[in-house]
Amino acid sequence: MTRGVARLAGRLVLPQGVVAGWLEFSETIVGLTADPGVSGPIILPGFIDTHLHGGGGGDTMDGAGGVRALARFHLSHGTTTLYPTTMTNPWDAILAALDGVREVQAAADPTLPDIPGVHLEGPFISPQRLGAQPPHTLEPTPAQVDALLACDVIRLVTLAPEMPGVGEAARRFAEAGVRVSVGHTRADAETVATFAQSVREAGGTLGFTHLYNAMGGMAGREPGVVGAALADRDAYSELILDLHHVYPASFLAATHAKPDTLHLITDSVRANGLGDGETELGGQRVFVKDGAATLTDGTIAGSTLTLDRALRNALALGVDLAQASRMLSATPAQYMGLGDRGELSRGKRADIVVLNDDLQVQTVYVAGRKVSGD
Ligand SMILES: [Zn+2]
Repeated sequence: MTRGVARLAGRLVLPQGVVAGWLEFSETIVGLTADPGVSGPIILPGFIDTHLHGGGGGDTMDGAGGVRALARFHLSHGTTTLYPTTMTNPWDAILAALDGVREVQAAADPTLPDIPGVHLEGPFISPQRLGAQPPHTLEPTPAQVDALLACDVIRLVTLAPEMPGVGEAARRFAEAGVRVSVGHTRADAETVATFAQSVREAGGTLGFTHLYNAMGGMAGREPGVVGAALADRDAYSELILDLHHVYPASFLAATHAKPDTLHLITDSVRANGLGDGETELGGQRVFVKDGAATLTDGTIAGSTLTLDRALRNALALGVDLAQASRMLSATPAQYMGLGDRGELSRGKRADIVVLNDDLQVQTVYVAGRKVSGD
């Protein structure tokens, strides 16, 4: 069924800059017309989140109901494509979560964001860099990787390069088209560089999971994972711009080092949108206070960030609107191989976010259908 062509007037955020004009679209964008006489809201491509555990009371580990709840919540904040993210949990719980996401995909509900697949965060990570992941890490076996690939729903995997068996697992994931992201790791920069080379030789695309978090620091004679990530211009990097996980100067340094490969994520937990109080992450108690989520020992446990707030944070730190928009849409689309979306241009999916002058989300469209707002 084709819908008629809709028209929006406003400030169109294009990859190269902001242009006043008209946007015409049905399921895809069919027209863009510059018109300096036009005023109106800010119109951006829909946001893409490659790393989020939950929100709106739901969590990826809950199964299909949790995925729907988190998807609805983040959609209302402008996220039109998302990758529900698993926790390092017992093996069967992970497989059950993958099934839940497949169930949501199979229902193809057009009022939800698009869900191209899962981000598998753990269990193949370092037990010494868990962050807020529970201690259910594994050293991957070929049989386990086969079982995961057979689910055909994982599109991104976080791995610690120094763990036994991970090199071989990374090659298998890369050959299957799964993005390989370095994270929750104690590897040194040399180990990361060797790992990056083998992922690329297998035809893979390399990323870093929540840059700066759960990977140690950087020093002149000890570049570490952060140094390896910043030095590798072509490697993509997620970053949690809630200003709790990463402070302004660290964010700005990363934007300068990686202008085309840094993208923003939420790493959101289920309590996001529910206010302060006690909640749960991967079977652990989590406390949310003033928007910060922590375990009982004070470890940061995911975020209550939404991508519209990440955009506002980036702008407040002096990033211009076109660049901030790229970090939320074009760059993650390119990373994940989603050539049909990520920018406002003719032929792309009409995944659109409309913001008012206070940069609050007013309306959201998924593939041309109004799914949130007025
Ligand atoms: Zn993590």
